[in-house]
Amino acid sequence: MERIKEIALNSLGIDENVFDLVMNEEKKLKERFSEIDDITDYNQMKVICAMQKNRLAIDHFCGTTGYGYDDEGRDVLERIYADVFKTEDALVRPQIISGTHALTVALFGNLRPGDHLLSVVGSPYDTLEGVIGYKREVKGSLKSLGIQYSEVPLKGDGTVDLEGVEKAIRPNTRLVTIQRSKGYALRPSLSVEDTAEIISRVKAVRDDIICMVDNCYGEFTDYTEPSEVGADLIVGSLIKNPGGGLAPVGGYIAGKAEYVENAAFRLTVPGMGKEVGPTLGVTQSLVQGFYQAPQAVCGSLKTAVLAASVFKALGFEVSPEPLEKRCDIVQCILLKNRENLISFCRGIQMGAAVDSHALPYPAPMPGYDSDIIMAAGAFVQGSSIELSADGPLREPFAVFLQGGLNYAHGRMGIMKAVQNMVNEKRLKI
Ligand SMILES: *Cc1c(COP(=O)(O)O)cnc(C)c1O
Repeated sequence: MERIKEIALNSLGIDENVFDLVMNEEKKLKERFSEIDDITDYNQMKVICAMQKNRLAIDHFCGTTGYGYDDEGRDVLERIYADVFKTEDALVRPQIISGTHALTVALFGNLRPGDHLLSVVGSPYDTLEGVIGYKREVKGSLKSLGIQYSEVPLKGDGTVDLEGVEKAIRPNTRLVTIQRSKGYALRPSLSVEDTAEIISRVKAVRDDIICMVDNCYGEFTDYTEPSEVGADLIVGSLIKNPGGGLAPVGGYIAGKAEYVENAAFRLTVPGMGKEVGPTLGVTQSLVQGFYQAPQAVCGSLKTAVLAASVFKALGFEVSPEPLEKRCDIVQCILLKNRENLISFCRGIQMGAAVDSHALPYPAPMPGYDSDIIMAAGAFVQGSSIELSADGPLREPFAVFLQGGLNYAHGRMGIMKAVQNMVNEKRLKI
């Protein structure tokens, strides 16, 4: 502790009262941290078991080029994902470039003209607007192919309107999408139990409706995943939780074999599906990233809990609360005004290992309707399992903080954020 204080004060530019504030909040969180450790240890063992069961071997890392036929490492990685998520099959590919792309592949692969797609959490993540083609016309969107879309607005308290969901199901409803994490919305994220309840309501109306969970930011935050409570498909990004900070790119789609195959036929070629797709030498990073993922999620969860505790102590509204159950790695802090939001994000950037000298500015982003500021000093471009913060420049000036490959770095990032706000006279401690 003395050594930590010394380097923080002498080399990182942290004031003693900022350091003491953060360390005092940390002391209150011992019990919460040990719950997180338990989830982490369980998931770590689950992942290793799947690796052993599938006889993961060093020669699986050599990779393929060209068509990627007979890529055994790729197939083993996909079986490991399927075992950990307890699904029939999985598609885990570097050719999937983001979470949005993975969701796009799952949706286009499983929906046909005339089908109806239903979102049960109000509007889904901003970047899906163009994919679905609601709010605005986009060439090649689901809507342009004759796929209907509707959504069930959230209730006043931000929870899912279960009766509303039942009523919104049409005879041609083919797929229900359930977004677990809050995105830029100010609603509580969904727990695995919440998703279970939504799925059982949907299946009670018609059990052939595909229930898809956007699992982005949710993986390994709990003992179970939505695929263990009835989700037919779960979808996520490898530059978030399951990539463990090591995957340089990728996404996954796991679930019922038939629906995973439909997605694979859309990603590659109808009739070829999972048989093709070279791994180009990234297999080791994807496998080792998955191995590391429970630890990265652990660092991220503890960072989020500490940030909640510190900023609550500083008088800000936070969601979730420090001791509340967490269903994803995202921490929302209502920073009250534009200057606080910018100052916070700049402090987080200053705490990064990569690009710590860069100064983030708010700017327009494709797919978002207000300016966004992003602190993203990461080894992998845009990776948000690494400590990052972003928020739209609009009321209530909420910042969304996520990631932290290890807790020591996450804690340091929080100190830098507080310190920058103090230096810019946004805070007095
Ligand atoms: C990150 C995220 C996505 C996908 O975003 P990409 O930037 O395309 O990876 C989708 N849904 C949610 C809830 C997310 O958090």
